[in-house]
Amino acid sequence: MRPVELPPAETSLPDLFVKRLQEILPQQRLHDCLQSFTHPRATSFRVNTLKAADPEVISGLRADGFLLSRVDWRSGTYCVPPEQRRALTDTRFFNEGMIYIQDLSSVLAPMVLDPQPGERILDLAAAPGGKTLQMAAMMENLGELSAVESVKSRYFRLKANLERGGATMVRTYLKDGRAVGAQVPARFDRVLLDAPCSSEARFNLNDPKSLTHWSLKKVQESARKQKRLLDSAIRSLKPGGTLVYCTCSFSPEENEQVVDSQIRRHGDAVAVLPIALPLSNLQPGLLKWGKRAYAEQLRHAVRVLPDAAMRGFFLCRIMRNR
Ligand code: SAM
Repeated sequence: MRPVELPPAETSLPDLFVKRLQEILPQQRLHDCLQSFTHPRATSFRVNTLKAADPEVISGLRADGFLLSRVDWRSGTYCVPPEQRRALTDTRFFNEGMIYIQDLSSVLAPMVLDPQPGERILDLAAAPGGKTLQMAAMMENLGELSAVESVKSRYFRLKANLERGGATMVRTYLKDGRAVGAQVPARFDRVLLDAPCSSEARFNLNDPKSLTHWSLKKVQESARKQKRLLDSAIRSLKPGGTLVYCTCSFSPEENEQVVDSQIRRHGDAVAVLPIALPLSNLQPGLLKWGKRAYAEQLRHAVRVLPDAAMRGFFLCRIMRNR
């Protein structure tokens, strides 16, 4: 493979991480990806329709001097320049839960899951609750939305965010998501598993702490937990139900390999479904990594390639057939 010339700041990423990225991403996207670890990105937020109407919030923020741009692929989603982020968190719109600051790639997961009012939905790794809140808004607070989180401090943050956002339909559970599939098998119409991961797409070279924890061992540890969480998510789905598995990691071990392990375990009781998104910074799932070959259906998975507007992400939509 032709070596890619790296801008100086990016050379302080772990060598092994950069080497792996060179093998995972299309060569022509690598430079943008590496830039995304240093360059400040616009702050994106969603208007929380459980608390306020879009025009009221937007005209209020414009009157307060915010330079808003509309995200053209998702209604109710906007950006402000990075230097206005701090001021945005001081507004009443933020403090009263009328807006929720959320990465654009993270907005995609509930979009792909597409929960409907009246359905029974599970969010299996929920804190701090951005996606739970987004799903409650999509469901207009109608139906059943269960949010599970295993880390106590994060569980209380989740509860506070849901309360501030007016998500009255949500039942929260402080428990290990790995046990849920056995406790409530075949219960949910749709499940979101936004899995705990090595958070590679969140690396920020202006905040070296964001990458000190990274190692191949950490990636492998995450993968072990993710497999058990995904197995639990599949078991908790009704036959005919769908789930979205997502991470903010680039590593195939935490993405395609996790899904592949569950295809091997559950056989044709599960199937990977195509994902349609109105974006061009997407790459289909990998079908091999190192010596491993993955199930052909993993081509339907999507790796969101980071750019000036959004962080990297991985999404896979899975159906339980029986
Ligand atoms: N979906 C969240 C959002 O949009 O705000 C972000 C979820 S974050 C990627 C993953 C979460 O899973 C973390 O809050 C982590 O504490 C939690 N977690 C880790 N292990 C877990 C487990 N065994 N069961 C349930 N949650 C777990």
